[in-house]
Amino acid sequence: MAVQDVYQRALRNLRISVTDRCNLRCAYCMPEEEYVWLPREQILHFEEVSALADVFMDLGVDKIRLTGGEPLLRRDLPELIRLLAAKPRLRDLALTTNGVLLGEQARSLATAGLHRVTVSLDTLRPDRFTALTRRANHAQVLEGIAALAPAGFRGTKLDTVVMRGVNEDELADLIEYGQTVPAEVRFIEYMDVGGATRWSMDKVVSRVEMLEALGRRYGRIEPVVEESTAPADRYALADGTVFGIISSTTEPFCASCDRSRLTADGMWYLCLYAQHGIDLREPLRRGASADELKTLIAGAWGRRADRGAELRLRLRDRTPLVQIGRLREDPHLEMHTRGG
Ligand code: SAM
Ligand code: SF4
Ligand code: SF4
Repeated sequence: MAVQDVYQRALRNLRISVTDRCNLRCAYCMPEEEYVWLPREQILHFEEVSALADVFMDLGVDKIRLTGGEPLLRRDLPELIRLLAAKPRLRDLALTTNGVLLGEQARSLATAGLHRVTVSLDTLRPDRFTALTRRANHAQVLEGIAALAPAGFRGTKLDTVVMRGVNEDELADLIEYGQTVPAEVRFIEYMDVGGATRWSMDKVVSRVEMLEALGRRYGRIEPVVEESTAPADRYALADGTVFGIISSTTEPFCASCDRSRLTADGMWYLCLYAQHGIDLREPLRRGASADELKTLIAGAWGRRADRGAELRLRLRDRTPLVQIGRLREDPHLEMHTRGG
């Protein structure tokens, strides 16, 4: 039986960041060149991640997503995937990546037992990619996506952060590219999370606007009716192509949020917008038993009243969540440390 928080939301989904480092510098996440990185000795070993995963599974978690920073930068990642994939209670083991290193790693990830991959892809245009990420790796990302199906992956998703004046004219092109992969494309509203230091409301393209633009291009768009706690609402075009919209900024879905996040150094965050986390590394390294960790985690989840995006929606003059000075003082506030 999954533990429940104060709004009866179960603990089911855990996003585990395996590194805070990244080989891209996306404008909406990590716009600077240099950051304060987590100290190496504080990064959890795979056995520690696996032990924590067992405790979380005792409390109801049955879905794990590996993320980062860029998770494929973590050395020997397939070893962690092997440890997690061997757990019979885990129904879903997924990975979110920027795709740069996917071409060379897709097969070993599949062999290790990874179930599904989501690749972040914001543009089909190499020049835009370079401007948005400050790195010229667009071709490598497309090669990485192309390597997924031959490696045996199904259920691939492509996540696109839509930003006004940057890529909002590519929605249809991305859907059509997704058909060729094949992959379901999900459009994410630009969020004012830590790291999005240049965020402003006028750069957010809302779900309503996206649907209007796609309706003009494709005609009738039908919502896909389904029971799910997944963040994306899914829609179908007349030819059956399905895409998703994650309207985290204009129509948040906190009411059904069953997700929490573990950083690479073992801090546990109950909400993407939370300003404080719970240190699980310290008790783990002190030798706390699985029961003690279970009590700590269950207690914190039981008190969880977070609904960060809903509260942000009520703000009048909305500015980025955290100012740059505070981000430098505490790297845990960054999106690339939280894992998105
Ligand atoms: N590096 C990997 C990647 O980019 O897929 C995994 C980590 S990244 C932090 C996870 C996801 O967070 C990506 O899909 C990224 O687009 C999303 N993300 C980062 N900053 C965001 C923002 N300000 N608004 C919406 N999504 C954001
Ligand atoms: Fe971009 Fe992901 Fe790296 Fe953030 S962590 S800069 S979203 S690739
Ligand atoms: Fe969940 Fe927090 Fe995001 Fe709301 S803002 S959906 S509570 S992580």
